[in-house]
Amino acid sequence: MATDMIIVFFGELSTKGKNIMDFIRLLGKNIRSTLKAFPGLGYEIKKDHIYILLNGNPYDEVAKKLVKVPGLLSFSLAKAIDSELEAIKEESLRLYRQSGAKTFKADCRRIDKAFPTRSDEVNRAIGGKILFACPGSKVDVHHPDLMIHVMIRKEGAYVYGIKEKGLGGYPLGIAGKGLMLISGGIDSPVAAFLMMKRGVKLEMIHFAAPPYTSEKVIDKIHDLLHVLNDFQEDIKLYVVPFTELEKKIYDVAGPSYCVTIMRRMMMRIACSIAYKHNDLVLASGESIGQVASQTLYSIKVIEEACTLPMMRPVCTYDKNEIIELAKKIGTYDISIRPYEDCCTIFALKDPVTHPDMEKVKAIEESFDYMAMVRDCVRNVKVEHILREEEEAF
Ligand code: ATP
Ligand code: MG
Repeated sequence: MATDMIIVFFGELSTKGKNIMDFIRLLGKNIRSTLKAFPGLGYEIKKDHIYILLNGNPYDEVAKKLVKVPGLLSFSLAKAIDSELEAIKEESLRLYRQSGAKTFKADCRRIDKAFPTRSDEVNRAIGGKILFACPGSKVDVHHPDLMIHVMIRKEGAYVYGIKEKGLGGYPLGIAGKGLMLISGGIDSPVAAFLMMKRGVKLEMIHFAAPPYTSEKVIDKIHDLLHVLNDFQEDIKLYVVPFTELEKKIYDVAGPSYCVTIMRRMMMRIACSIAYKHNDLVLASGESIGQVASQTLYSIKVIEEACTLPMMRPVCTYDKNEIIELAKKIGTYDISIRPYEDCCTIFALKDPVTHPDMEKVKAIEESFDYMAMVRDCVRNVKVEHILREEEEAF
């Protein structure tokens, strides 16, 4: 009997040696969780693939969710059939006819060496069957319209055609947990996506300066995080009340050093929260040279106040490359809604691009910033942004 199923391929995971089973189990868990709205799906977790038995669920709807799971290289709709040459030939013919392809190539992998027919003979048998049954069909070993994959295992044979591309990367959580600085702009949600894709589970921190920044900024952050919920179903958000500290910085630092000092304070607060919640690294949407605070000179001075590694996934991207990715993941339209960030509110005419460390230290020594940093950390608000489960189909 033929069973509809999906074969999931892992990609980079297969190079991971002895940790491979941890990777696969986590990927399996993440897939199950992503597909939990579909009733009755069956799962088999193997060393080199994950099988998802569709049990009547529509492939297209399941596929729409699978393309957003980090760590998944590709997947295919497949038929599981009996390990029997006649059945394999029949199923290959059906797949060919259904595909509308003209040229084809059969590619058999005989994992069960007890199967009596060798791979190249299976390929020839499939070729013969299709060529005989379908006038006009042709074998093309170099650039076939359709590749007919056959995998023969002890428990049965699997026949599949097109492989759909997944996100790639690593299963979410395998790399540990990090703290992402999220503003309402274009860059930080894209940077967050890239971190998640690489297997880093993220918590988010946002610095809010009400009443200078409106509640709309928080709504915007919520909307952005709901988009990122496609890749991580539960996102913890820390909202830091930053107004008092920001006003103080503006008073003591003056226009040109305000942003430098403000960002150093952000680092201190973020590190403190990260230590408290076991986040291994910080991450931001900074890109080299994009603004005054993102010259290498500024980055060096700002990072001196940071005691955790700072990841900058888009640091080498041009703005248009970031925008392209933002459109692809669906954050762009939200990011371009007008808003005031705490950085833009106190926007300053002449922010320094080559800050002087001595001067920075002198400004910071002029007030008890540690007490204010502690207040920010103490009064942080915590929220969980959860994936909204729509009906599966
Ligand atoms: P834009 O697309 O406007 O550049 P951005 O999010 O990159 O948006 P920047 O002012 O360039 O904003 O800030 C650089 C980085 O600093 C951001 O990517 C983000 O990681 C962090 N950041 C800036 N403002 C905030 C904020 N209010 N709260 C948390 N993180 C912030
Ligand atoms: Mg930016």
